[in-house]
Amino acid sequence: MQVYFVGAGPGDPDLLTVKAYQLLENCKLCIYAGSLVSPEIIALINSDAEKHDSAKMSLDQTTEVIQRASNNEIDVIRLHTGDPSIYGAITEQMNRLDKLAISYEVIPGVSSFQAAAAALNVELTCPEVSQTVILLRTSGRTPMPEHQDIETLAQSRSTLCLFLSIHKIGEVAKQLDKYYGQNCPVAVIYHASWPDQIVIKGTIEDIADKVKHSGITKTAMVIIGRALAKPETESKLYDSHFTHGYRKGTKK
Ligand code: SAH
Repeated sequence: MQVYFVGAGPGDPDLLTVKAYQLLENCKLCIYAGSLVSPEIIALINSDAEKHDSAKMSLDQTTEVIQRASNNEIDVIRLHTGDPSIYGAITEQMNRLDKLAISYEVIPGVSSFQAAAAALNVELTCPEVSQTVILLRTSGRTPMPEHQDIETLAQSRSTLCLFLSIHKIGEVAKQLDKYYGQNCPVAVIYHASWPDQIVIKGTIEDIADKVKHSGITKTAMVIIGRALAKPETESKLYDSHFTHGYRKGTKK
């Protein structure tokens, strides 16, 4: 018996991994994050499987379901949106399973920040502009650990992918202004890869107003940074004068 922490990807079923797809198809018991996993993916869970929506359950309750399955030698799929390793709250679940000596495996998924970048047709790491991507959130009921507040992270001017924070976009824009500048591009992607995906493009100065008018209040990724402007800088990798292990460059 085993628990599979499965990444459901951002929403589009075609973005599931083959492993995830096969596990859902053959599954006997699935605990899924109903508040975020798309209905199209929930529909792929084997129709005979016992299903539990974790949105309505506590950690004690999901652990109880797994323990019961373990007693009956039934594998469990724990379906998380995007990639389970990012804001998936899997550590606490794994700690419980360790105590119960129940084994588990993680099947990675396409994260929403990747689907959002794809929706924008952008590279998050552009030469000379940003070579770093930070996945972050604002503090809510989960407080920010020391040294990881948004202003500290903003000092790097790297590309920021902001999770779980669309409702605080105005506040965030004000905090970033000093480091990124008012005209720095910001994009908000609601339901990336879903049929009702919405993309809003703006700047630090006007993004909060645009989001307000759109009425978007949840399930959105915010990407901030100059890389979004598709800078003209070119990489060394494909520079015709640059020699590397696989190609000899031409003389200037
Ligand atoms: N593990 C997930 C993140 C879970 S936290 C992942 O890797 O994507 C939930 C947050 O993820 C949401 O508040 C939102 O910021 C983001 N998110 C999840 N699915 C999304 C989607 N399809 N489009 C845009 N943002 C999404």
